[in-house]
Amino acid sequence: MGKFTIHPILQEIASIFIRHGKQVFLVGGAVRDLLRGHQAKDWDLATDALPYEVIALFPRVIPTGIKHGTVTVHFKGRSLEVTTYRTESGYHDGRRPDQVTYTARIEEDLSRRDFTMNAIALPLPRGPLVDPFNGIADIKGKIIRAVGNPQERFAEDGLRPLRAVRFASQMGFEVEEATLDAIPQALGTTEKVSPERIRDELEKILASPQPSRAFLLMEKTGLLELLLPELACCRNIEQKGFHRFDVLDHSLLACDAAARDQAPGLVRTAALLHDIGKPLTRVRDAAGVWTFYQHEQVSAALSQDLLTRLRYPNAVIEGIVHLIREHMFHYEPTWSEGAVRRFIIRVGKENLDNLYQLRRADAYATTGQELPRDFLLPLITRVDEVLAKSRALSLKDLPVSGKDLIALGIKPGPPMGIILSALLEAVVEDPALNTKEKLLNIAENLKEQYP
Ligand code: ATP
Ligand code: MG
Repeated sequence: MGKFTIHPILQEIASIFIRHGKQVFLVGGAVRDLLRGHQAKDWDLATDALPYEVIALFPRVIPTGIKHGTVTVHFKGRSLEVTTYRTESGYHDGRRPDQVTYTARIEEDLSRRDFTMNAIALPLPRGPLVDPFNGIADIKGKIIRAVGNPQERFAEDGLRPLRAVRFASQMGFEVEEATLDAIPQALGTTEKVSPERIRDELEKILASPQPSRAFLLMEKTGLLELLLPELACCRNIEQKGFHRFDVLDHSLLACDAAARDQAPGLVRTAALLHDIGKPLTRVRDAAGVWTFYQHEQVSAALSQDLLTRLRYPNAVIEGIVHLIREHMFHYEPTWSEGAVRRFIIRVGKENLDNLYQLRRADAYATTGQELPRDFLLPLITRVDEVLAKSRALSLKDLPVSGKDLIALGIKPGPPMGIILSALLEAVVEDPALNTKEKLLNIAENLKEQYP
């Protein structure tokens, strides 16, 4: 394991603790990532100073988790979580420790942590590393291993099994056998974990290089059936035609293939869930071939429920569900210009790129073969032409607004909504109508119909 340098800001913070006779360690993911030769995302510190003492040491400290001995220190543009060494006891609900006891020793603090790779402490300012559970060796061997007895550790906190598979896909590590074997028995505890904590892990899985690694481990251990049963039941749902995979493998391949960079992972999540309606809609046609009519609607409805259950924010749910609902478009060169415009309006200009990406991932995952370079190009070209030509494709692009209509004596409320939509439709059919004067004229006429 190579040498690593300790950031000057960390050294500065350490010197403040030390000047006041306190110990301070870098702990958790930051040490793990340093040892792997990666930049740490955020810094967690452990100290023997009590929370009120830390508050006194720094000018800007927020008591973010003071019940658990954690405060957040803001220092030179960074924010660090600083936690007093502690042990925990009594996880009676399988969610959070009931009691926190401060301890004098960093080793005890490390023993409450989940995996050996996360239970290494780096004394600041300069080491040497404290590694009571051989986490360094496990990082070298790329192994995720529970600290102590995995069954006991998972019984304390049912999120840990999910963290194990999440780390596996984030870092490309293997989950050690006894640790993996302990997961099925812990499912009853995992069931009690709050949906928000589950969602955070799911989001991290979806942002990892190869989410399918985590999902396949989840399937093997029963986590998938417990947390995402809609996906678990896609196993062995065979498809026909060009498809080479069952619905689950197809979904996982699509998910891996989708771009991973947008923040809430809209495309990846949509790719994962886009076909979960298939088991419910599968019917053999007269020729004996499987069909899945309207599966995109069922997938959308099931995804809405699933994401709501996991407490995704409404705007994110809407974004994902919309992509799923629209994923089955079939472009033909015979589409009229009006048809292209209606496609743009239905999808929404701002969602077009995401929908193209979803379709690319979906098509790739049908066979696992690279797509032709001009895949979707005919449609994209038409869409871009139409966009360049006509600027009025959503209400906010119209040259008239609600205010203009009020000036005509149209009252705010449903009639105004109908009139605005009618104006938009008119412009879609005939872009030449897209001037303020012409549209106000039309509105004047419509006013009589919708008083
Ligand atoms: P990342 O920040 O990439 O998610 P991390 O390892 O830093 O990874 P955090 O959730 O930030 O994870 O937690 C920091 C540290 O706290 C972990 O490294 C681990 O030592 C400990 N920890 C976090 N969650 C748990 C848990 N559920 N059970 C036991 N220890 C935990
Ligand atoms: Mg962290």
